[in-house]
Amino acid sequence: MDFKFTEEEEVFKRVVKEFCEKHIAPVWVDLDEKGYFPAELYRKMADQGFFGIAIKPEYGGAGGTMVMSAIAVEEIAYADPQVAIPVYTLLQNGWPLALQIFGSEEAKNEILPRVVKNEAFFGIATTENQGGSDLAGTRVTAEKKGSTWFLNGEKMYISGVGELRELPWGGGFWILTRTGGMDRGHRALTAYAFLAKKEGKNVGGFEPTVMDEIGRRGLTTGGFKLTDVEIEDRYRIGDVDRGFYLSMEGFNIARILVAAACIGAGRWALDQAVEWFKQRKLFGKHISSFQGVSFRFAELYAQLEAAKYFVYKAAWMADKIYLEKDTSFKPSDLNVPVAMAKLTAPETCVRALEETMKWYGAYGYSKECPLYRAWLGCFSYVIGAEGAQNIMRYIIARDVIGKEYVE
Ligand SMILES: Cc1cc2nc3c(=O)[nH]c(=O)nc-3n(C[C@H](O)[C@H](O)[C@H](O)COP(=O)(O)OP(=O)(O)OC[C@H]3O[C@@H](n4cnc5c(N)ncnc54)[C@H](O)[C@@H]3O)c2cc1C
Repeated sequence: MDFKFTEEEEVFKRVVKEFCEKHIAPVWVDLDEKGYFPAELYRKMADQGFFGIAIKPEYGGAGGTMVMSAIAVEEIAYADPQVAIPVYTLLQNGWPLALQIFGSEEAKNEILPRVVKNEAFFGIATTENQGGSDLAGTRVTAEKKGSTWFLNGEKMYISGVGELRELPWGGGFWILTRTGGMDRGHRALTAYAFLAKKEGKNVGGFEPTVMDEIGRRGLTTGGFKLTDVEIEDRYRIGDVDRGFYLSMEGFNIARILVAAACIGAGRWALDQAVEWFKQRKLFGKHISSFQGVSFRFAELYAQLEAAKYFVYKAAWMADKIYLEKDTSFKPSDLNVPVAMAKLTAPETCVRALEETMKWYGAYGYSKECPLYRAWLGCFSYVIGAEGAQNIMRYIIARDVIGKEYVE
């Protein structure tokens, strides 16, 4: 057992932290207020190597790890707790790593070096209108004619649709599609690296829309319609009809980073609380002298620290499985650690923000106080971005109790 970051990880953490203090903390409120694409900031982040951290040098990356990706996302979320910048960062790390593990050489050579330089975006598109949790009900179809696949249907609530417009080269999504009858459920789904925009042009038949959301305004969420969109077979990820299983492994990677973002935002919330406790006096005492306040703070601090262990244990295990190819772990060993991290980190972070808003009193309810921005942004992960919370409970129950006893 070793509960310390390595020296290299500590140095990396310091570099990210210093960058965040200088470039992200001063702009996050403005970004949330105005909702724009911070192109120059992302250029600087790419220069620092914050996108595609675990991408290997042969695909243009620096060959870092998932632990380093989690460190970066956590620190970025501490500096931007409304989480637009950390979520953009986690998407640019999680799904490109999944592509590195499961994609074809041609797709990896084309997409990954561009993600590292932030010329291209690579996110995830599984959700459809009829219900994101039930992927067995996926309706977007992919049909093969010759060596080309034709995609039809509609995806909804997809992060990064607007950002594609802004990036010079373009990019797209790990997309999940139906390649067999509905009666075959999740056993007839195939994944592709779908480049919705390439060399500066949207592909034919791709119609994006951007939604208006209550928070996280520095990052867009939208949908898109696909009408006979052509995808060459080299963009297929894994075997036909294996897409559900590979996407679940991709979610295991991405959810670690989602949870890391919530740890960063939660830490920020509790630090705001400590600052407030030092100033606010009532009945002649600091409000943290009342145990009704300080005990609740202590509980939240402990819960956040526990969630942080889940995050880094899961990141460490992902490194063993996918980067070190340590055969003493199976990919499915990640299910429970990841679900525990994704279940606990967003819930604790949002509770920490709510309690801190209450400790701030009426000021916490004013727009001048930025806590509500973080609350609205992080709540996206309690609602269900990258997987609903009950799905995390289901995964834990299924793997611990046994599938035959929970279905
Ligand atoms: C800000 C934001 C960004 C997003 N970005 C992306 C993205 O980039 N790509 C993408 O593909 N999707 C994205 N999503 C969609 C996200 O993945 C879905 O919201 C999520 O999978 C849940 O699907 P749903 O919203 O359709 O809710 P539903 O699946 O309809 O679930 C509704 C409710 O039912 C509960 N529920 C569902 N199934 C069960 C069950 N078996 N047992 C008990 N309770 C259950 C859920 O917990 C939830 O509370 C994003 C969502 C948000 C809010």
